[in-house]
Amino acid sequence: MSIKENLNNITSQLPKHVTLVAVSKTKPISNIMEAYDAGQRIFGENKIQEMAEKHEQMPKDIQWHMIGHVQRNKVKYMAEFVNLIHGVDSFKLLNEINKQAKKHNRTINCLLQIKIAEEDTKFGMSSSDAKKLITSEEFSILNNICINGVMGMATFTDETNQIEKEFNRLKTTFEDLKQVEATNCTLQTISMGMSGDFKLAIDCGSTMVRVGSRIFGRRNYN
Ligand SMILES: *Cc1c(COP(=O)(O)O)cnc(C)c1O
Repeated sequence: MSIKENLNNITSQLPKHVTLVAVSKTKPISNIMEAYDAGQRIFGENKIQEMAEKHEQMPKDIQWHMIGHVQRNKVKYMAEFVNLIHGVDSFKLLNEINKQAKKHNRTINCLLQIKIAEEDTKFGMSSSDAKKLITSEEFSILNNICINGVMGMATFTDETNQIEKEFNRLKTTFEDLKQVEATNCTLQTISMGMSGDFKLAIDCGSTMVRVGSRIFGRRNYN
């Protein structure tokens, strides 16, 4: 199937309130243009430099999402154009994003990455730390940041029960955070679900799915 057919197939399965991020990491511009020509405007990348190069070369109405782990010293390369940063998991990183956003006189939208997987992953914060963060005084002065919601990655497993449990964990965290009155927050997005589990994620409350290989085919990392 072509990229266009894959894309239509997926969008036809998405309820209206769910946004599709087409994950184009490692894929060439020609592939991304195929998706663009089919109407897709939101693309996700996990390396800042790769995203910046693609942004340079591609139509400017594309919304670029950073879905990977972010190194603080590279925030400056995307601060001018990035539309949403999914993987924010520390105050230090937020502080740097705020600083770079200010330089460009803009507000940068971020999602807090929550550790929902039982397996050992390096990234993501606990829901109690997320709550502490958004109610802290040091956060309240980051006026060039808007926290739009949360992001999570489930354990890499075939066990649906396990994945479902972890997705529910993210949904609960989101609801908890919404109870808190915090500045610089407009909580509306739950980013969860990838090629293999986006339908389950939607059943569990996802409002944003990040789908790569089901659109562009398998990735070749060589
Ligand atoms: C690569 C990646 C995806 C997409 O994965 P697929 O299984 O190809 O859909 C989604 N989210 C993140 C954070 C990724 O790094």
